[in-house]
Amino acid sequence: MLEKVVIANRGEIALRILRACHALGIRTVAVHSTVDRNLKHVAMADESVCIGPAASKDSYLNMPAIIAAAEVTDAQAIHPGYGFLSENADFAERVEQSGFVFIGPRAETIRLMGDKVEAIRAMKAAGVPCVPGSGGPLGDDPAVNARIAHEIGYPVIIKAAGGGGGRGMRVVHAEAALANAIATTKAEAKAAFGNDQVYMEKYLENPRHVEIQVLADGQGHAIHLGERDCSMQRRHQKVVEEAPAPGITPELRAQIGQVCVEACLRIGYRGAGTFEFLYQDGRFYFIEMNTRIQVEHPVTEMVTGIDLVREQLRIAAGLPLSIRQEDVVLRGHAIECRINAEDPDSFLPCPGLVTHFHAPGGPGVRVDSHVYEGYRVPPNYDSMIGKLIVHGADREQAIARMRVALSELVVDGIKTNVPLQQRILADAGFAEGGRNIHYLEKKLAERREAAIGLC
Ligand code: ADP
Repeated sequence: MLEKVVIANRGEIALRILRACHALGIRTVAVHSTVDRNLKHVAMADESVCIGPAASKDSYLNMPAIIAAAEVTDAQAIHPGYGFLSENADFAERVEQSGFVFIGPRAETIRLMGDKVEAIRAMKAAGVPCVPGSGGPLGDDPAVNARIAHEIGYPVIIKAAGGGGGRGMRVVHAEAALANAIATTKAEAKAAFGNDQVYMEKYLENPRHVEIQVLADGQGHAIHLGERDCSMQRRHQKVVEEAPAPGITPELRAQIGQVCVEACLRIGYRGAGTFEFLYQDGRFYFIEMNTRIQVEHPVTEMVTGIDLVREQLRIAAGLPLSIRQEDVVLRGHAIECRINAEDPDSFLPCPGLVTHFHAPGGPGVRVDSHVYEGYRVPPNYDSMIGKLIVHGADREQAIARMRVALSELVVDGIKTNVPLQQRILADAGFAEGGRNIHYLEKKLAERREAAIGLC
């Protein structure tokens, strides 16, 4: 096993990684920015190193500082968590070149999946069903682009090859708007991701977001751990996630899971990963692969009983997968609500001092959060301050438990999105299950209109 790991992240995921390390007897090094000295995991880590000022580019994205921290503490490996440098192929390469283990896939795999055009090409070749699309980057000839769009059929979506975080996408409903949409998306992509390549896909009008979790040891073994439904989204960002996905039969799960396993073996995948699909009319369409642990991984852990971060650490230590496909059994239902420090109506971030904090409890309730009473949420980073996860014998029980858990959660001093989560959990459409990726936005728009009507 590894002896000492640097946790190159912050907040709840840093704490999650620390817990998995300590449970395996691995010592931990927390690296943090100057405003993050008081993070919970920094206090709990065996060692800590301040790697720079608050701005992410000077701390959590500062590759030399993180590698130097591993050097001075004599650590063996670096866990990147999610976000920040987790999908940066150059970082993975530099970590390995400096003699440390990067806890994730090989740099070339990250590079391949980071270019969505290349990723789709590789997945198509591996037999993974993809969204009908341009099959490559778009050129500058408006006539050629118009023909591609015509063949795919409107509406289409223009997406940045280097995009992420729900940014760099534009829907086009008719040819008149096409050339302008391509030019604008290209310019935005260049500014945001330093890569102006864009591609075109059929815009699916009422899909659900269903993703498959995989684990592979890079030594010829790969398994899938079933799916998650992440259709409750706002601005292409997930708000609530659950496992299993309502209405997915065991046969369908086994079939799409096997496709992902075979793709992993074909590209020599190593570590934990997620194949993201849109699911419409009983069919799966690949959109991208995330080569890291995801925010929503706990719902899979709750229904499979498998600790995904522990498995990441074992794989990074060079151990072969100890779980076989037939060992993966789904039990009950799990739901996760992301808790953000934001105004529940305007969605503006709301950093500040947490004057009172009370975490819910009871059977099947899990709280992954770094927040404590007296903690000050800094304005410099993502507004997510934790995740509430529940497990029940079935979906109905999970929903009931989540409603109670949300009512017990107290975060005073700052605004949070808990009222929004409560409305979602009380919603009849959500209770029925299987709603598509536009459902939450539609509900929010209705609410805004109703509020205007009252004025
Ligand atoms: P990102 O890497 O920015 O998260 P994705 O490719 O994963 O980008 O897409 C994010 C979300 O955008 C999806 O969950 C879905 O809501 C929407 N989306 C992406 N591609 C399509 C498409 N072809 N049709 C309809 N919606 C799409």
